[in-house]
Order: sequence, then structure tokens, then C-alpha cells
Amino acid sequence: MSRYDLLIKGGTVVLPYHGEIRADLAVSEGKVAAIAHDIAAAEAGEVVDARGKVVLPGAVDAHFHLGIYRDLATDAFEETRSSLVGGATTVLSYFRTGSHYLDRTGSYEEIFPEVLAAVSGRSWTDYGFHLAPMTVDQIAEIPYLVAEHGVTSFKYYMFYKGFDLAANSRDARAFTMGDEYDLGHLYLILEQVARVQDAHPGLRLSLSLHCEQSELMRVFIDRVRSQGDPQTLRAYHEGRPPLTERVAIGEATTLANHTGTSVNLLHLSSREAIEAVVLAREVNGAADMRAETTLHHLCLDHDGLDAVGGLGGKVNPPIRTRADGEALWQRAADGTIDWVASDHACCMEAEKGERLWPARPGFGGTALLYPVLFSEGHLKRGLSLARIAELASANPAKAYNLWGRKGSLAVGFDADLTVVDPELAQTVTPELCLSGQDHSPFEGVGLTGWPVTTVVGGQVRFRDGAVVGEPSGRYARRA
Ligand SMILES: [Zn+2]
Repeated sequence: MSRYDLLIKGGTVVLPYHGEIRADLAVSEGKVAAIAHDIAAAEAGEVVDARGKVVLPGAVDAHFHLGIYRDLATDAFEETRSSLVGGATTVLSYFRTGSHYLDRTGSYEEIFPEVLAAVSGRSWTDYGFHLAPMTVDQIAEIPYLVAEHGVTSFKYYMFYKGFDLAANSRDARAFTMGDEYDLGHLYLILEQVARVQDAHPGLRLSLSLHCEQSELMRVFIDRVRSQGDPQTLRAYHEGRPPLTERVAIGEATTLANHTGTSVNLLHLSSREAIEAVVLAREVNGAADMRAETTLHHLCLDHDGLDAVGGLGGKVNPPIRTRADGEALWQRAADGTIDWVASDHACCMEAEKGERLWPARPGFGGTALLYPVLFSEGHLKRGLSLARIAELASANPAKAYNLWGRKGSLAVGFDADLTVVDPELAQTVTPELCLSGQDHSPFEGVGLTGWPVTTVVGGQVRFRDGAVVGEPSGRYARRA
């Protein structure tokens, strides 16, 4: 019998908030069991040679959309498989009732066990869910969701108010299948989350916010469409400009400060949006407001995508300018932005089509989480390896009650990690991503520094571009 199940030998181990150490890392029963300068290979059942490689805590991809456009079980299998390519070992996925997903409404007490059953046994990574209360009755279920299912994060979409984008009509309730969905509904959710927070002092209960202001979107979209209705991603950006993000951030943080609720400001896309967060933090003092951006808002710009053509890069909020991307990189480096996620939503090229406004929003990117941060963040812009581990893993783990299990490499933490070859240079193709999605807006982007081995719960599940074994991801209860 070996003392350890698995040994990661000879690598540079990256510790968030600390730095890099030259160490061997041993795993027993799915947990990190030892970190030491030299652990003998003979002590382990399996050895991963990490000489010349970088060992990072498995990423916690905190913004994901399993089952939004396809059945949950298929998405769970194919899209968490894609996560392994990018070094993510946990995904936290958004789910709501209404159009898409299960295309129905009802109580989460009835629906959420169905969601869990569909994903169970199909996920390559560990997984959890953020849930969006679309009805007043669902707001009343929050204490049940915390206590029974360990769900500690919820969501509100600022832009569904009065505007159904899927049908391109002004009838949002046909889309949400919910109650009046306005700032009043948001206020009720914020109050309830704050109330339930009081009963769980050891946890961080939070509301995630998609910040775009729909009344302004209505005006700007009508204006773009009346001026020749160009079918470009630049037009999409002009129809939902950064001003709509800024105003929505102001509205949401004002209410959250009043109720004392912790919030997560999702997928900030522009300089204006992140500066609105800086201002909101100043004005609101101690309020807990965490900031997220995405790989695509860091990496892509609408003119670049329009030059290639197609609508594969349509997403909410829209892809902005190169200057916005650089502003987000600066704020990711200086600590203003807390984490980077993929906002992965598997969406086929056919669902995009050739018409801008009916095209479905969203696309996949989880396969690129560490490659983008390593190549564009560390190599190109000088972010430290510890900082990219904070952005990809430690900070989302802390925000969503996974710290102590996920987010770092320390004895007793889950053995979730990825071994990155810092010299491996690859050009993004859909095939490389191991996703069900048949296209990628990142296609053609060259990145240096890719995972060559990804370990989930002590099991090697990805090696040299291919998955290994069977999905063994577990549901991550967070309370
Ligand atoms: Zn999303």
C-alpha cells in the first residue's frame, strides 16, 4: 500500500495571496495530504511529473449556464468536460424558471431536485447552483434553499424589466413566466436575502446582479434600428451601451446598501461599469459588493469580431471596445475586480443565425479560463501567478462559501488542481475546447500556457488534451 494516492512532483505550486513555492504535493482520499520540498515518488500510487510546470488551484468558474439552450444532462456532461481543458474543477451555474432552461415555472422545492437529478453523475467537475427567484413565492423559498440544498447565492436580472428580448417584445412576463419583475421585486429579494443572512452568520448569502438598464436599452435599441439596422456586434454594443450598465449598477447598489445585502456585480463589461462600482463602494462604505468580469470582456472587442464576421460573439452585456478590455485588465490587476469567470452558455452557430436581434445571446469559454489569464494576464500584462489564482479560484471560492475546500492548495483542501505547461502555445479552435458548441468567438486567438493535467477530487480527469475516466463531480453544498 502506498502512503499517498497521487503525487504532483517537481512543480511550482501557486498559493493565492502568497506566491509561488517549489514543492511536491501529495493527495490522499481526494484531499491535499502533504506539501513538502521533496516527497519520494515511491510513496505514491500515481505520480504526475510537473517539472517545469506550474501547479494552480483548480479554477472555480463561478458564472456558468448549464442547460440554458440544451437539456441539462447533455450540457452537464459536455460543458463541464470543457471546463477541465481550462483548469476549472468546480462550476457554479445559474438557473432560473421561465423561458429556456426547463421552459416552465413553479416552486423550486419541486423543480430544483429535478435539476440536481439531471446533472448528478454527468458532471466532470464539482458543481453548484445560484438560483433566481422569478416569483414572489420563490422569494419565500430562500430559507428552504439555504437549509435543504446549501444554495447561498441568488440572482436578479435588471434588464428583464418590461422587455422580453427573446421575443423582442415589451411583454417580459411571457419570458420570465413570473410576477411583476421590477425594482420592487428586486427590493423584495434583497430584503429576504438580508433577513436569511441574519440567521446564518457564518455564511455569506448574496445576490448576483446582471446590470443593464432596460428602459435606456429600449431607447438606444430603437435608435440603432432606425439608423439602417446594421447586423453587427458594434450595433449591439450601441443598442446596450455602457451607460445602461452604469445606471443599473447605481440602482442595484443603492437598494442593496439600504437593505444591507451582499451583492455580486456580474460580468462587468466596460470602463464605465467598473468605475461605477468603484464609486458605489466609496459612497456605500462597508457594503459588500464583489465585482466579476469575463474572459470575453477582457479579451475580445466588437470591431475585431465584426472584421471576422458573424454573430457568434453576441452576448449580454455586449462585447465592448479594446480600451474597455484594457481598463478591465487594469482593474483585475489592482484588485478592484474580484474574479474572472466564463459566463459559459453552450449556444450553437445555427442559434445565432444572421439576424442580430433574434440571435441567441451567449457562448462557451470555460476551456480558456486559465489559458487567457496565464497568457494575456500573466505573460502579457504582468499579473502575478498568485493574482491569477485569486481571480480564477480563491476569490470566487470565498465569495460563494467554498473556501476551506476550494480556492487554494493547502493540506485538508479538496485535491482540485491543474498543472499548466507555461510554454505550450495553442491557437483556439472549437475542437480544442472539448465542448458541445460548434464554433467559438475566440477561434484563432493564440494563447501560451495551457493545462496539461487537471485533477478533480484527487482523480486525474484530463491529460494532454483528452478526458480520463468517467465524470465524478459532486454537488457542492455551500451551507
Ligand atoms: Zn450569465
